Amino acid sequence: MADYTIRFWGVRGSIPSPGPDTVRYGGNTACIEFRLGQHLLIVDAGSGIRPLGRALAGGEPIAADILFTHTHYDHVSGLPFFTPAYDAANRFTLWEGHLGPDRGLKSVLQQLMSAPLFPVPVNLIDRSCAYRKFAPGDVLTPRPGITVRTAQLNHPNGCVGYRIEHGGRAGCVVTDVEHVPGTLDPVVLDLVRGADVMIYDANYTDAELPAHTGWGHSTWEQGCRIAQAAGVGQLLLFHHDPARDDDALDAIGRAAKAMFAETRVAADGLEITL
Ligand SMILES: [Zn+2]
Ligand SMILES: [Zn+2]
Repeated sequence: MADYTIRFWGVRGSIPSPGPDTVRYGGNTACIEFRLGQHLLIVDAGSGIRPLGRALAGGEPIAADILFTHTHYDHVSGLPFFTPAYDAANRFTLWEGHLGPDRGLKSVLQQLMSAPLFPVPVNLIDRSCAYRKFAPGDVLTPRPGITVRTAQLNHPNGCVGYRIEHGGRAGCVVTDVEHVPGTLDPVVLDLVRGADVMIYDANYTDAELPAHTGWGHSTWEQGCRIAQAAGVGQLLLFHHDPARDDDALDAIGRAAKAMFAETRVAADGLEITL
């Protein structure tokens, strides 16, 4: 039985982008499911976590960890619509490391889920959700046999990169990260070195980047360079710009493969087993 499986439920950045031009790659924002042996670990709660919640419904009580890269809308906006969080039979541990010592995830979600922005208070998910804070750089052990290494990423308001290790394999999530022009951040290179899979912020192209300095994002070309330099097995381009239609993502996939052969463009529903 597959012991380490990754499934994408949302691959967009910024804002959901449904419509006829995004049918093949999908329009939901960031949400990735990791199945590690018997354990469920979720990275980010963008709009993609809503269909994940529907897929989980009706089974055994759920015990899962949700790791947040950060709390920009595209990474949290689905949580209020993740119906398993309202069921007291379930147990979710919500991990956050980017807010610093004086602020907690619950207070941010309270803002998100408060009148007149949202009808239901965040207290309603307290029956199933517990909050855990860490500092970027900490090594987390959410369950026996699962090690999660963390690193601070360069992004407005902070962001955390994850390296999720289980059964001798490693999958990394490095999204919402900007490099000093002309360099590759050594923190990122260290985090992903030798990983089997790197899921990477490919919001821009190198040609588009100069017009977006300081916006906190990367390019698919930078993803290829990092994968090469750090000996990554497979590169998954992620956090697609909402304006990028299916044909544009096909073209990026072809160009990226020419630069780093083991590249794929992440799409809603794509599943990878390591
Ligand atoms: Zn984002
Ligand atoms: Zn962001």
